[in-house]
Amino acid sequence: MAVTGWIEVDDLYCKGCGLCVDACPQDVLRLDMERLTPKGYHPAQMTEETCTGCGICAVVCPDAAITVYRKTPQRQSRKAAGRRT
Ligand code: SF4
Ligand code: SF4
Repeated sequence: MAVTGWIEVDDLYCKGCGLCVDACPQDVLRLDMERLTPKGYHPAQMTEETCTGCGICAVVCPDAAITVYRKTPQRQSRKAAGRRT
């Protein structure tokens, strides 16, 4: 099972610069043109479910507006992993 992730954008900090949109290797970020933040910017949003949780968007965001979450696959139990012989 592949590692999956998702992000949250804090509207109070996002200024709609689009750096995260350009940096995302999965191309799952867009600026939300239907919505404005309290400061009047179009905020970044995730548009597809193929985020890997790589964290690049959070690193490039100059305003630390992005929090990245990762869901890692459960480790196989020793039994399920098989015997070493
Ligand atoms: S964590 Fe990685 S894949 Fe997910 S939105 Fe950010 S840059 Fe894209
Ligand atoms: S890089 Fe940060 S400030 Fe710029 S659009 Fe993305 S979340 Fe908003």
